[in-house]
Amino acid sequence: MAGVGDGMAGGRDRGAAGREGGAAGRYRDPYDLEAMTGEEAQARLRETGIALLPLGAVEIHGPHLPLGTDNYIARAMARKVAERVDAVVLPTLAYGQVWSLYGFPGTLSVDDRALAAVLAGIGRSLRDLGVPIFAIVNAHLGNVAAMREAARVLESEGGPLTFYFTHPALGEAAERVRESPRFHGSLFHACELETSMMLYLAPEHVEMSRAVREIPQVPPDFDFRPVRWRELTRTGVMGDPTLATPEKGRVLVEASVDRMVAILAEARRRVWAGGGAGEGADALERKG
Ligand SMILES: [Zn+2]
Repeated sequence: MAGVGDGMAGGRDRGAAGREGGAAGRYRDPYDLEAMTGEEAQARLRETGIALLPLGAVEIHGPHLPLGTDNYIARAMARKVAERVDAVVLPTLAYGQVWSLYGFPGTLSVDDRALAAVLAGIGRSLRDLGVPIFAIVNAHLGNVAAMREAARVLESEGGPLTFYFTHPALGEAAERVRESPRFHGSLFHACELETSMMLYLAPEHVEMSRAVREIPQVPPDFDFRPVRWRELTRTGVMGDPTLATPEKGRVLVEASVDRMVAILAEARRRVWAGGGAGEGADALERKG
């Protein structure tokens, strides 16, 4: 998109300041809620109408990736979405539900109900601040049930319009880049795909010289009962991270970012066209 995000690498004022009027020019970083004052945040949330929550986990990812891999990925992807669609990124929620790999070194878990309650609480806060769209940018499969539950609760309560994204469009993009054998329809962990994403988004946290290949034997009833992943992996790797490259990561990440940007831009058009807050309608006109 030729817009706000372009040329924002330095985090300086250009994006928001380039628009007509508004206090946006004062932001040190117009996408990072954590770094704003309350007034700045309120102005940006009203202007953009979209809050993004990066959601990850603290979970073993083999010998070549850190425990915070999902947090690094979620945060970097949310940032890319924010710069493209114009949205505000909330502080990362760095704890997730880790049932499958529970008991592995360094792995921390919170249960589904606790996680859903936290997500719903953040959503309610956004509603009370007048934010119409809440999007969770999740990088950890174990969080899916809690996200869906929170989004349903918020929907029943009257908003905000809540999206839960876990690598949308990854399936198609993966088929374009994958060289390692496919051992399951949707499982991936510390593998060629996830390691490629890290090489693209946070290469300083990848130790490729320590990457090991471990292709799991997935039992035929895997999708029909709870399976601890210690049945599948010794190292925490499920796949072949030695085949990872930053270019593959770029393809995977950009496909997901494109999908999220398209969905959120369309949602905002709908919300604002539907007679949302006056500020939103004004902003819509500014953007054409
Ligand atoms: Zn992960």
